[in-house]
Amino acid sequence: MRSIVWFRGKDLRLAEHAPLTGAAAAGEVIPLFVLDPFFFAPERARELPHRMQFLLDSLRALEADLAHLGSRLVVVSGRSGEVLPRLAAQWKVDQVLVHRWVEPFGRERDRRIAETLDRERIAFRLFEGETLLPPGSVRNGQGAMFRVFTPFARAAGARLDLDRALPAPRSLPPLPEGLAIETAPIPTLADLGLPLKPNLQTGGEKAAWARLKAFVSGPIADYGTDRDRMDRPGTSRLSADLKFGTLSARAVWQAAAAAGAGESGRRFLNELLWREFSHHLLWEWPELLKAPFRADFTGFPWREDEADWRAWSEGRTGYPVVDAAARQLLAEGFVHNRARMVAASFLTKHLLLDYRLGEAHYLKWLTDGDWAQNSAGWQWSAGCGCDAQPWFRIFNPVAQGLKFDPEGAYVKRWVPELGGCPVAFIHEPWKLPRGQRAHLDYPEPIVDHALARERFLATAKGHLGRIKE
Ligand code: FAD
Repeated sequence: MRSIVWFRGKDLRLAEHAPLTGAAAAGEVIPLFVLDPFFFAPERARELPHRMQFLLDSLRALEADLAHLGSRLVVVSGRSGEVLPRLAAQWKVDQVLVHRWVEPFGRERDRRIAETLDRERIAFRLFEGETLLPPGSVRNGQGAMFRVFTPFARAAGARLDLDRALPAPRSLPPLPEGLAIETAPIPTLADLGLPLKPNLQTGGEKAAWARLKAFVSGPIADYGTDRDRMDRPGTSRLSADLKFGTLSARAVWQAAAAAGAGESGRRFLNELLWREFSHHLLWEWPELLKAPFRADFTGFPWREDEADWRAWSEGRTGYPVVDAAARQLLAEGFVHNRARMVAASFLTKHLLLDYRLGEAHYLKWLTDGDWAQNSAGWQWSAGCGCDAQPWFRIFNPVAQGLKFDPEGAYVKRWVPELGGCPVAFIHEPWKLPRGQRAHLDYPEPIVDHALARERFLATAKGHLGRIKE
């Protein structure tokens, strides 16, 4: 039996990799990665600079790890829908093994490839591996997808069977002999016209396991309280590893469950279930990448305001937590979850700008930018998502800062102009006496919190009220 194991950017690992283990048990293995212009054309790569850096790191690590086991990563360029079937036929493989994607464009790609391979009598085998449970498999009593997180989490938790851990293979067969296999070099960032960003996390399976081990042997114990603190390193920082599959969700769950961290551990597992929820939602409703879950938000009268958009995206709104979030995103490819919620609420509610603008901006700059989770996060924040924050709840960025960044350490790290601002004013520097304020090179708030809140509530009531009639 000869198999292609097609690595597709969401499973860049050797452990808990069912396609690889299955192919190795069956016979000859050709590990493949396709540099599809959909992501790797320089103009496309520029739309995901931080994800690309992490991906290239992870690919290089995978290449080295496969070589260490006796195999080789074959890298080819071209549109996967054309290249994959052509190579599968040319190399006379019996089967192509892959992990499933939940995104609609990934499903469509797989449908077409399966059809083409079928004509050549080559099997296309999809494995689960991105989520804890197969998308679409967690149903309510009526057989439908849950629309509320808590019962979904309960049902998913009850179905989890995580005893079976799939270790990385100890060795792999060499590439089959006698085949004309040409492999391209993994591109560098420079090849794609991207600068190296030193503040980004390092990709690769080893770096991912190191992060996981560090988290479960320490911070997980206080996760329950620290996870909301923007000024503390209280969360796992595993989101990019989960996104690119340098760790499987199952491995993370197992390690966290084994840590015995009590209520804090349960809170962490609950976050993994939020991740699960977002993927199952997108599987069920692929249109969520384009439209709000709540149909009554269709046609919502979002404003268009270039100056406000620029102030938000560049971190110059005059609201310190919102600005810190914007700048952390551009510098580090990451934003603390609490800061994401505050910043997203501010964009959609205080500024009344379309959540899809923020969604696209985050997807571009987040290293963990993930279609399912990002879309769910933005719709949750805007109030138009499935089991979202109610639309009339509006985060007060000052109160959020005082509570979750009490000394202003998060703000001072990302907004250095406020370095000299006394702690008492760090989240509302406009209240500083005028003389002191003049020394800060920091903008006045672009909107007044109370007025912006009233504006959003009136607009939303008007729109949603009209829909009801
Ligand atoms: P931890 O707190 O350590 O959580 C562990 C893991 O659980 C995370 O790595 C993540 O995979 C998952 N998780 C945690 N919180 C959530 C959540 N609220 N929803 C879904 N999954 C969660 N997460 C992404 O991975 N990619 C995104 O593109 C993304 N976009 C977001 C956009 C907005 C507007 C918001 C409000 C949230 C978004 N999130 C996204 C969710 C969350 O902010 C990040 O997963 C989290 O901050 C990552 O940090 P961590 O790994 O230290 O998380």
